[in-house]
Amino acid sequence: MATYDLIVIGTGPGGYVCAIRAAQLGMKVAVVEKNPTLGGTCLNVGCMPSKALLHASEMFQEAGHSFAKMGIGVSAPKLDLPAMMGFKQQGIDGNVKGVEYLMKKNKINVISGTGRILAAGRIEVTTADGGKQTVEAKNIVIATGSDVAKLKGVAIDEKRIVSSTGALSLDKVPGKLLIIGAGVIGLELGSVWRRLGAQVTVVEFLDRILPGMDGEIARQFQRILEKQGFAFKLGAKVTGVDTSGETLSAQVEPAAGGAGETIEADVVLVAIGRAPYTRDLGLKEAGVALDNRGRVEIDKHFATSVKGIYAIGDVVRGPMLAHKAEDEGVACAEILAGQAGHVSYDVIPSVIYTTPEVSSVGRTEEELKQAGTAYAVGKFPFTANGRSKVNQTTDGFVKILADAKTDRVLGVHIIGREAGEMIQEACVLMEFGGSAEDLARTCHAHPTRSEAIKEAALAVGKRAIHM
Ligand SMILES: Cc1cc2nc3c(=O)[nH]c(=O)nc-3n(C[C@H](O)[C@H](O)[C@H](O)COP(=O)(O)OP(=O)(O)OC[C@H]3O[C@@H](n4cnc5c(N)ncnc54)[C@H](O)[C@@H]3O)c2cc1C
Repeated sequence: MATYDLIVIGTGPGGYVCAIRAAQLGMKVAVVEKNPTLGGTCLNVGCMPSKALLHASEMFQEAGHSFAKMGIGVSAPKLDLPAMMGFKQQGIDGNVKGVEYLMKKNKINVISGTGRILAAGRIEVTTADGGKQTVEAKNIVIATGSDVAKLKGVAIDEKRIVSSTGALSLDKVPGKLLIIGAGVIGLELGSVWRRLGAQVTVVEFLDRILPGMDGEIARQFQRILEKQGFAFKLGAKVTGVDTSGETLSAQVEPAAGGAGETIEADVVLVAIGRAPYTRDLGLKEAGVALDNRGRVEIDKHFATSVKGIYAIGDVVRGPMLAHKAEDEGVACAEILAGQAGHVSYDVIPSVIYTTPEVSSVGRTEEELKQAGTAYAVGKFPFTANGRSKVNQTTDGFVKILADAKTDRVLGVHIIGREAGEMIQEACVLMEFGGSAEDLARTCHAHPTRSEAIKEAALAVGKRAIHM
């Protein structure tokens, strides 16, 4: 007889949410976690600490640069980095404790140690001191997440050559920060350290920043970041970093080949992406198949190649985002309970928490062109939005892409303050298959930045009012 109905390996947003939903549905559940704290990458070294530092560094920047023009006289702000790191840690601790509480509340057993699948229904857990126990369950969900992707020739020491984890805990502001990779994590952490005083250079292999994001939005975002002091080297690759001197020397070559150059830096941040985490899980021996990118292969019901073993979150296909992992956790638990769990993969928003923020949901203009879909575009700039004008935060615009024939909204892209909150109304609309007309006829409170969404929806029909 299995001890549990379900054991989830990993307590990131995918794993702990799956466990809670399964417990709500009446299952006897345990989670296995190898880290000393619950919450996974997201709570410990990902979403949460990065957002705490983005918030604190933004306040620092505002106090130094924006208060005076609003008539608030303060002396130049002084950075107390240990205190700022303390602020970050308090946020992490609060959230981690929250997950511990939720495990207790839902009567989920937390088993500390590294889980290894012996076979369907059986997991061996090894504790930090080497102790072993075998636990049994009717079903197993793998939610082991992802780890930093490594770059050949650039060895991470988490002191001078750091991953996102080290970049969240530097003990001083680097004079020069070189970031490898112009993706979300590199640009967010680059923003933190630039605001605190670092000179930031970003080297990106492709000829654009933020691959996969709407091109027009990415171009404007790059211009704004350059105005803020970012330097970009696009179409270039770092082939090695010499660590022998007091400062680091990175060898940078054009991606297409040709003469290279050396860039000096105090800290190099490797932010080229993340890789699925399947180490020590015993997948091969248990017969669990991986896909060609090393991710656990699953069908549309999250089932792996072995009956009774499922997988969700960063360790499987799809965007590596916490809310995608959470939704998969819920859907997977519901499927295990015999319900029709479902994730709407076409409506997964993505947000970059810089200033301004960037958010998007659905198709980009490039994707619609490539698919041959006829579409109409409606755009509205924050320079024409009353609330943005009075607050003097007018960078950016809203862009809505709607089907040319049916007016159904296919994609929404926003660059601007609070874009991460604003995108949600587009998600709800798209979840219900709504049209630009629906959005345009929805009353929006005045004065809000969200009125720019209504105006962009009106602009799809060429009838924006304030432009
Ligand atoms: C710097 C940074 C910023 C980010 N910001 C955002 C953001 O703003 N928004 C967003 O949506 N996403 C963000 N992400 C991505 C987000 O963190 C991940 O998508 C999310 O954490 C994935 O959740 P998960 O449950 O699949 O895995 P994880 O959160 O990675 O959790 C996996 C857990 O499994 C445990 N584990 C692994 N193997 C074993 C084993 N064998 N036995 C026991 N336990 C094991 C690990 O210790 C870990 O706790 C960010 C990531 C980083 C690095």
